[in-house]
Amino acid sequence: MIANPVPWPNAARCAVAFTFDMDADSILHLAHHTSADTRLAAMSMLRYGPEIAVPRLVELYKRFGMHQTFFLPAWCMERYPAAVDVILQGGHEMAHHGYLHEHPNELPSEEELYWLQRGIDVFVTMTGERPRGFRAPTYKFSRHTLTHLVNESFVYDASLMGDDVPYLLENTTGRVVELPSHYALDDWPHFMASRDFNYFMSIKPPRQAMEVYAAEFDAMWEYGGLWIAVWHPFLSGRLARCVAIAELIEYMHNKGQVWFARLDEIATYVQQLTQAGTWTPRVDRLPYYPGPIPELGAAEPTLAR
Ligand SMILES: [Zn+2]
Repeated sequence: MIANPVPWPNAARCAVAFTFDMDADSILHLAHHTSADTRLAAMSMLRYGPEIAVPRLVELYKRFGMHQTFFLPAWCMERYPAAVDVILQGGHEMAHHGYLHEHPNELPSEEELYWLQRGIDVFVTMTGERPRGFRAPTYKFSRHTLTHLVNESFVYDASLMGDDVPYLLENTTGRVVELPSHYALDDWPHFMASRDFNYFMSIKPPRQAMEVYAAEFDAMWEYGGLWIAVWHPFLSGRLARCVAIAELIEYMHNKGQVWFARLDEIATYVQQLTQAGTWTPRVDRLPYYPGPIPELGAAEPTLAR
């Protein structure tokens, strides 16, 4: 079912990465710049992420001997240094998720680069290292993102959804490894409800969300794919959901032959396979289009609105 499955290490049937995006209240300031400070309930819901959920998740990973990847907007690192310490002390990777969760594809190229570099500076100051991975906030990878990632020496991106296994993003500047996921593995559709974001999904029982995640895992295990959860501490780190996550991890462990890894480990492994010639990833050439398709003319299209 997968045309070009990856020969995962130690005869693993699939690779699994639980990634958490610790957005904290960055998204509230971005959505409501002038009134965020007055929205205390929303703020408390979001601060639950760094204050309560991150230490809980790190403890959970410790129980299972797992090292995973957390994506952080750099502003959140500055605001919540204790969460940064907990993540680093647990042996987990921290990767770049914008400065203030800004949307790259809504910014001019120079402005996107400014925030990317400002975020890198925070990583260097607080962790002593440049980040190796990037996930565009709200998946808003731009036409210029790949060029900036190549120029800033990123190893991988984890924003896109174009395959079941790792692949390469390429343009005239260079290449990075893409580690794809999908909305089925994002916790937002399962759990997000907030008046301040005008976003109400019918909240599912944790086990129903786990059923979706487990179905994705079973298929990846069967056919040699890559399973990457895109979760948020303030959503999936709530107590009942964390209990269900522990059960899901146990289920995966019991099934066996699973490679639990940080995304930087997976990206490095893909590079090693590629260099050794033992596996050749698919190459996706960007951008997909040089501009709007000509069939609809220069005017803003009114079709399908
Ligand atoms: Zn985010």
